[in-house]
Amino acid sequence: ATPMALMVGVARAAQFGILIKGPDALEATRAVDTVVLDKTGTVTTGRMSVVDTTSFSGAPEADVLRWAGAVESASEHPIAAAVVRAADEDLPAVSAFRALVGAGARGEVDGHLVVVGNLRSMTAEGVRISEPVHRWLVAEMASTRVLVARDGEVVGGIAVRDTVKPSAAEAVARLHRLGLRTVLLTGDNAVVARAVADEIGITDVMADVRPADKAAAVDVLREKGHRVAVVGDGVNDGPALAAADLGMAMARGSDIAVQAADVVLVRDDLNTVPDAIALANRTLGVIR
Ligand code: ADP
Ligand code: MG
Repeated sequence: ATPMALMVGVARAAQFGILIKGPDALEATRAVDTVVLDKTGTVTTGRMSVVDTTSFSGAPEADVLRWAGAVESASEHPIAAAVVRAADEDLPAVSAFRALVGAGARGEVDGHLVVVGNLRSMTAEGVRISEPVHRWLVAEMASTRVLVARDGEVVGGIAVRDTVKPSAAEAVARLHRLGLRTVLLTGDNAVVARAVADEIGITDVMADVRPADKAAAVDVLREKGHRVAVVGDGVNDGPALAAADLGMAMARGSDIAVQAADVVLVRDDLNTVPDAIALANRTLGVIR
């Protein structure tokens, strides 16, 4: 394409709320054949709510929520926001906070070490998982279930649920009509991932993928000869966005995602993904 066509394309895209960082990114947009979508915050609203709290230690459920809420008040994860909203108004302070990226969070609350997160976070912190706790964790996976441990022992569990964005199903259908393959990529478990994928028509699912492995998953697709776009919003999507032929970040996402991306989607509407690809095709004169 001529430099002029590229400039016009970039300018037109901006009118649609699609910020393309330069002409190369527009060329890359046109070449894409596979769109990998992050789940939480990209395909879903990321505004989760707590649907169940369980105690495993005899401690009141309100305490489980309080301890977890105190740690999560320092975390930026959507699960953390849901736990904080569900917990008491005046949460105890947290110190020595540390995010266990893609797994959970930990911190000291009232002099006790509290860990909140998935199985991997518990294993990493040396917390033993009993048979009943494990059963609870995997019993109903349509919601995302996390555990709460205090001083190395599981004291309870919290289930949260997310909703898909209203624009998601239409956006996926449009991508398929453009001849693209769609893949849902998530650190969440396979059952939740499959349920979300089915709800909006995505065919391929890569679940239980750690943030560091998201980039490797993208590399695998690229090595098979695919031209891959990644759409993400989170800190944990940064490496995958950078590894992609085309990184697309939701503008409402983290700064890290926005910086790593080639394209920034100003509106929170997933239709801007097929919009961008259709526009690149039109501007650069290729009809699929
Ligand atoms: P996604 O790929 O869906 O954006 P992440 O990679 O951020 O998900 O997280 C993967 C999993 O790690 C979550 O589904 C959850 O089980 C756990 N997790 C991560 N951060 C937290 C947190 N702050 N509190 C509780 N659980 C967490
Ligand atoms: Mg996300």
